[in-house]
Amino acid sequence: MKRWLTPKAIYRAALVVAVIALSAFLAIEVFGRVGGGHSYGGGGGSRSSGSRGGSSSGGGSGDGGALVYLIFQAFRFLIYLTIQYPLVGIPLDIALVAGAVFFFRRKARAMTTGFSSMAAATRSYESSDSSEVVARGFERLRKFDPNFSEIVFTDFCYALYGKAHDARGGGSAKLDLFSPYLSEEARRSLLERNPQGLQEVKGIIVGSMRVEGIRGLDTTVVGLSLFFESNYTEVVQGSEMTYYASERWELARKRDVLSPPPAQATALHCPRCGAPLQRDTVGACAFCGTKIDSGEFQWFVKNIQLVEREARGPQLTSDVQEVGTNYESIVQPNFPAIRAQFELNNPAFSWGQFQERARLIFTELQGAWSSMNWEKARPHETDNIFQMHQYWIDAYRRQQLRNVVDNAAITAIQPVRILEDAFYQGITLRIWAQGLDYTVDANGRILSGSNRNLRQWSEYWTFIRNKQAQSNEARTDLNCPNCGSPLKVNASGICEFCGGKITSGEFDWVLSKIEQDESYSG
Ligand SMILES: [Zn+2]
Ligand SMILES: [Zn+2]
Repeated sequence: MKRWLTPKAIYRAALVVAVIALSAFLAIEVFGRVGGGHSYGGGGGSRSSGSRGGSSSGGGSGDGGALVYLIFQAFRFLIYLTIQYPLVGIPLDIALVAGAVFFFRRKARAMTTGFSSMAAATRSYESSDSSEVVARGFERLRKFDPNFSEIVFTDFCYALYGKAHDARGGGSAKLDLFSPYLSEEARRSLLERNPQGLQEVKGIIVGSMRVEGIRGLDTTVVGLSLFFESNYTEVVQGSEMTYYASERWELARKRDVLSPPPAQATALHCPRCGAPLQRDTVGACAFCGTKIDSGEFQWFVKNIQLVEREARGPQLTSDVQEVGTNYESIVQPNFPAIRAQFELNNPAFSWGQFQERARLIFTELQGAWSSMNWEKARPHETDNIFQMHQYWIDAYRRQQLRNVVDNAAITAIQPVRILEDAFYQGITLRIWAQGLDYTVDANGRILSGSNRNLRQWSEYWTFIRNKQAQSNEARTDLNCPNCGSPLKVNASGICEFCGGKITSGEFDWVLSKIEQDESYSG
């Protein structure tokens, strides 16, 4: 006869409950570590915390085997209980299934908010050219257009993206001003997105832009596909809605034209004559009378496709997993030879000084970020990345949150890529670092991350400088690289003492990009 609920059975049932609870707890621990910090609007990959977004990554990884064993044992015992003591076993089964459903639903939701767009981005990327193919394409393009600079081109695309979205907020009349850069079709697809009663589009922040493909180098017209991830806010009848969006832009340009110098590549000038954008009555340039509807002089956007859009503001306390810290570094093909050539071309360059400057900038940025005193970062970042980071600081501030990275320290540095063109030099370093990374509310309560467990991460930081600065030594102190006065710059990165624009890299290396392991493609 069955004597169920003997002390031994009760003890066993209690043990099962404890084991199940413990394994659920461990599982949550494991997945909870999956993160901390915020995701960029939706793209886990373009999480932009200038610094970090993340939680502790200390401990836990060794628990995997024990956890599997525990779950296995619990499961075995559960089957035994279900058969031998169904009155205990079956309710437990039901509770466990309900718990699992709840847990996986939660997890699925977390994954959707954190990684959906990343998944979309990865999908589209699979069908596109590799970064190596794109780099080779640019190299070939430079044979026809020696002025072509990836850095200038990227700035141009960021500027055009921002201006196009800003202009659609003013309706078709305002957007038509950009007709020398945006085809009728491209403008129409932007306007189609406007809701009824749209007053303004603001807070337009490009989180990432990737060249997905390059075509037509054997013909007279070159085509490029770009993939953007961004956040913007639409104001409709006084109420605001923030979106995460990803878009594909198709651009074309005559292959054999010479790119304009950086100052003229801001999408604010007539591509033909360089005068400020102004239309006459027939839609031609008010100065030179040229009506531009192709890429005859400068890159021209043929069409714009909205890939994904979600109404969603910046997520500041969601958990984002640290991915790829142990991935192998992505190093430029033929890097040793490129480095040797670079050293030959730049005899004043010293890797020691350059890395010391990189460390200085890293430390200054972490401090500025944690204290939300972002002006301190102004001299060290190019305009695009500074604005993006400023956007995140403002977003934290609006939610009365603060992302802190204490005791941040670089543990290793590896140079992985060097870029030289007619105007700029760029060096990408893979930087491994650790720190206490957590987000607190106004009362100092920790909402994500940990102030006790060190988190380890790695990122690809790209520094650029203007070719004019080629003979300068990298500055390793906090003085103006032009005049030597203590660093004090205004909002546009201009030294208050000498008037030099520090942040364009005119005098020394400045940070132009931070990319995460999982999104860096070389
Ligand atoms: Zn003109
Ligand atoms: Zn100065």
